[in-house]
Amino acid sequence: MLFELSALGAYCGRSIALATRHGKQRALALPFRWGLGATLELSSVDTDLLGTFSGEIPRLAEAAATCEAKARLGLEASGLPIGLASEASFGPHPAMPMLPVGQELLVLIDQERDLCVLEQRLEWRTNYSHTLLEPDGELEPWLDQVIFPSHAVIARPATPQAGVLFKGLHCSDALAEAIRSCRAADPDGRVWLETDMRAHCNPTRMRSIRRLGSALVRRLRNPCPECGSPGWGLLDTQPGLPCSDCGTATELTLSEIWGCQRCGARLEHPRRDGRIQADPGQCPWCNP
Ligand SMILES: [Zn+2]
Ligand SMILES: [Zn+2]
Repeated sequence: MLFELSALGAYCGRSIALATRHGKQRALALPFRWGLGATLELSSVDTDLLGTFSGEIPRLAEAAATCEAKARLGLEASGLPIGLASEASFGPHPAMPMLPVGQELLVLIDQERDLCVLEQRLEWRTNYSHTLLEPDGELEPWLDQVIFPSHAVIARPATPQAGVLFKGLHCSDALAEAIRSCRAADPDGRVWLETDMRAHCNPTRMRSIRRLGSALVRRLRNPCPECGSPGWGLLDTQPGLPCSDCGTATELTLSEIWGCQRCGARLEHPRRDGRIQADPGQCPWCNP
């Protein structure tokens, strides 16, 4: 990529407010320092006010608006003109309900350039899960599945009771104690358990945020060929790769749409892997 040969770019030497209480600087500080020459300044706003993990993947526009609101809270609290925030949702894949996925977003707001750059991905690597523990239930298999204790869990009575909620459980003793309290508080002695998806409680999620941070940094190093704003990069893909046998358009990616999130410039590129035809096995005509 030609632009990547240029210097560190528009944010070299700048401070960027990172709105988090969940240790996300551990994932994001290095990519921003090495890739952009920028320093992250922690802005300890209570981002939990803007929602918790609800077990559903919202529409992208909604999630992006929440993430942007977080970044703006960080700007206000810090007084800096550049802010960064991340946001995630976890739940069943919208098209494949058996598969848990995470929708991870990262937004940079630059008030000096009137710029808002979003980087996002659907993350398959997640331990997101929940389970209902019956009074005589076996918990070990589920704990193994969610990679406890390196990944924390949350416990509450199956019938929610005000004030009885245990977050960030990452040792067996604390978990056993929480389960005892939840059983005692639940009319049927049943306990609801779920993975704690907050970044500082979940190393898998922390790695997702790091990958997303690197992707955002790469995007910010590319200036828009039209307006010169940082943030030129992939925005969307276009399906329609033709079948090698009959030429029918398949669901596979035909081209990539690159663009600028400030001025709206767009360019269509061929696939980066150079593929121009689809296998007949993936053709709706040859292999319906
Ligand atoms: Zn532009
Ligand atoms: Zn075909």
